Amino acid sequence: MENPFTHPLPLRLLCFFCCITLFLAFTDGEVEDATIKIMQDFSGYPASEPASFDILTSVSSLSVDDRSLQTQIDELALFSDAPAPSVTRVLYTDKDVSARRYIKNLMKLAGLSIREDAVGNIFGQWDGHETQLAGVATGSHIDAIPYSGKFDGVVGVLGAIEAINVLKRSGFKPKRSLEVVMFTSEEPTRFGISCLGSRLMAGSEALEKALQQTVDSQNVSFLDASRSAGYMRDHDDLSSVRMKKGSYSAFVELHIEQGPILEAEGVSIGIVTAIAAPASIKVDFEGNGGHAGAVLMPYRNDAGLAAAELALAVEEHVLETGSIDTVGTVGVIDLHPRAINSIPSKSHLEIDTRDIDEMRRNSVVEKIHQSAVAIAKKRSVILSGFEIVNQDPPALADETIIRAMEAASQQLNLTHRLMISRAYHDSLFMARVSPMGMIFIPCYKGYSHKPEEYASAEDIANGIKVLALTLAKLSLY
Ligand SMILES: [Zn+2]
Repeated sequence: MENPFTHPLPLRLLCFFCCITLFLAFTDGEVEDATIKIMQDFSGYPASEPASFDILTSVSSLSVDDRSLQTQIDELALFSDAPAPSVTRVLYTDKDVSARRYIKNLMKLAGLSIREDAVGNIFGQWDGHETQLAGVATGSHIDAIPYSGKFDGVVGVLGAIEAINVLKRSGFKPKRSLEVVMFTSEEPTRFGISCLGSRLMAGSEALEKALQQTVDSQNVSFLDASRSAGYMRDHDDLSSVRMKKGSYSAFVELHIEQGPILEAEGVSIGIVTAIAAPASIKVDFEGNGGHAGAVLMPYRNDAGLAAAELALAVEEHVLETGSIDTVGTVGVIDLHPRAINSIPSKSHLEIDTRDIDEMRRNSVVEKIHQSAVAIAKKRSVILSGFEIVNQDPPALADETIIRAMEAASQQLNLTHRLMISRAYHDSLFMARVSPMGMIFIPCYKGYSHKPEEYASAEDIANGIKVLALTLAKLSLY
């Protein structure tokens, strides 16, 4: 904030002159101090520090530095193991470590105090004037799956830092501290675990235990990889990453929609009311196999056909719920020995099913299990594996945060709508630590996880303004 009294002498004299010719104008029943107005017009800066609550009623002081932000998005995309426009940034690789340094530097420039936990979740805090109160947090991730784009997650990290800058430039002073979080490994690329950082923050003893043994496809252990990136030092313990429920009074994540709705409807802001949560299942069938010519049809027990039948059963069970919110996908079917003239003796399926209604989603999982048993019996194959890999509960956004996001969008004159997040995010796990909310912005054709992923500077700036105003409101609660 510029102080007009630090300006050169002629200006100071003018300010002084203005001050002693106190002149009040009355407009719409409100008192406007014309001297202050003249001082502001002359200096180009507010004549006094606005009170914290000013920006809650006068949003014109919120300005996003578009140019710097675009530069940051482009620069961050250079920390990539794939050629532009693709981005590949995998957990604890050299590129990931460099990108982390870049983020910490931006946090430092924004005047945030930085700390990192044992797995590299990065926190940048702006102290409020009541530090004994739980803070308000915002953030997302910067890791990128192979050959993806430069906006997924990034908008919610660079945007969060810029939201802090926006508030600082406006003269806002938070009551509760504001904290930017960069989560470790939202994507499951390296160790097969999505939202690794936020899952650990939310507290998962099972994951803490599993990570002691987890290795990547090159047989590098999670612990060695994190040590090489500067984390998990000798005294570090995975349980230290856990955060107590209530550690934050609110958590808000800004993210590209990764779907086509906002763009198609020409709406600027999506306010998330719930995050659908997936269950993933791995299924294995085993039969006798045999020669494709020699074994006649009545004598076969074809593991491949069992897999095919189960894939169709997944679709059937999802559709029979009658709900548009229930989805199911069989993204993997592997056959063994995978030869044209050999009856498959083994098959392996990986199934993802999601819903915002946990009971309905669980009943779909149960029906898939019943079908797997029935199909194995009918086809005389063995159901050698049925593993529910994860079955996370969905998360509902907090009412107060939804109202704050709606009010912020209204004040900023931005069109907005309520919507469900069908992809899941770190927010799903942060909902276990604190009340949660998410802000979506449109992205080109809903593309994500590919190089064509794009969000316009204007849409990003709108999202950042809504985020900044929402954080400001929540910090004063
Ligand atoms: Zn993301």
